[in-house]
Amino acid sequence: MIKPPIPAHEAERLAALQRYRILDTARDQEFDDLVTIARTICNTPMGAVTLIDRDRQWFKSLQGLEGEQTTRDDAFCAHTILAPQELTVVQDARDDARFSGNPSVVGDPHIRFYAGAPLLSSDGYALGSLCVFDSVPAQLAAPQANALRALSRQVSRMMEMRLLRLQIDHHQEEHDWYEARLAEYYQQLEQANLELSEQTRTDPLTGLSNRRALTAALADAIERAGEVPPAVAIVDIDHFKMVNDIHGHAEGDVVLTELAAVLKSQFAGRGMAARYGGEEFVILMPNTPLQQAELQCEYLRESVSLLPIGLPISVSIGLAVHRDGESSGDTLRRADAALYQAKAEGRDRVVVAG
Ligand code: GH3
Ligand code: MG
Ligand code: MG
Repeated sequence: MIKPPIPAHEAERLAALQRYRILDTARDQEFDDLVTIARTICNTPMGAVTLIDRDRQWFKSLQGLEGEQTTRDDAFCAHTILAPQELTVVQDARDDARFSGNPSVVGDPHIRFYAGAPLLSSDGYALGSLCVFDSVPAQLAAPQANALRALSRQVSRMMEMRLLRLQIDHHQEEHDWYEARLAEYYQQLEQANLELSEQTRTDPLTGLSNRRALTAALADAIERAGEVPPAVAIVDIDHFKMVNDIHGHAEGDVVLTELAAVLKSQFAGRGMAARYGGEEFVILMPNTPLQQAELQCEYLRESVSLLPIGLPISVSIGLAVHRDGESSGDTLRRADAALYQAKAEGRDRVVVAG
């Protein structure tokens, strides 16, 4: 037996083999199918797709006998890869100095006939072979030889495709990972913004005071109230969800901003207008008698309905005057109940809390 010599450019050849990331992967129907076709065409009971690693021959597919790998020294295919462009055909291994002493010739499975077509990497290195073998001597007719060569090219293509699939999967995973990180950062950013706007006293969309500022101002107004207690009005846009649904969220934001501008101009210097929630605003009118507060609310309601923004917009308003001994929360709750009543009575109106 002649030990298979190491081919020229072995380091490059091994690097090419590594690139395919195929060694020690699971058996694969696609490769098995090509071995079956090769065996059928060449009429042999045994066949394999083998790859020649540094010290071993590893089987991606093996039919007709069992095994995972053999030493490189015992591999027929380690000889086949020495001639990358040629088919290696051994009609009777007993008559071939390279193989006559080979353990699988001398012992099981008593190989006599062998034909192997090299598997070439995209850069031309012979990585292994598609081979068929038999325990009786045989020959390969020209059409069979051609078919075996063609099938070996198919095996090489399959390795190429397999690698491509791995790379695509890898890119997809990377893409998904980045997308998940991005979503995470975005969420953190939103959370930070939320906390920031809570800490500040201004609503970022409308520039009005926010709920926090309003709550503090109301408590302050109650505490400082003289003869005339403060009045609070909750202003809620009617059917605002419909504005969003029909015209889009951006247009909805424009409506909120326009309404805020009206509130600012009407209440600048006289109390405070705040964005209390999504499409809810609160007006704080310190030292304002009920009648005057009600007039102001009516005026506001009309101004809103006359807003030249191309959409019919109206607001409902619930108004309450602070009562002695009542908490600011209680006053707001009464205003809210009045607002609820305004909605129930048909919207676009002002209702004074009882
Ligand atoms: P109602 O007359 O009973 O008040 O009906 P509505 O549709 O105004 O009330 P609802 O509470 O059902 O809907 C309020 C809508 O306000 C839902 C939400 O999408 C919208 N909204 C809340 N905050 C914002 C915002 O900042 N921008 C926009 N565009 N819409 C918002
Ligand atoms: Mg509302
Ligand atoms: Mg509303």
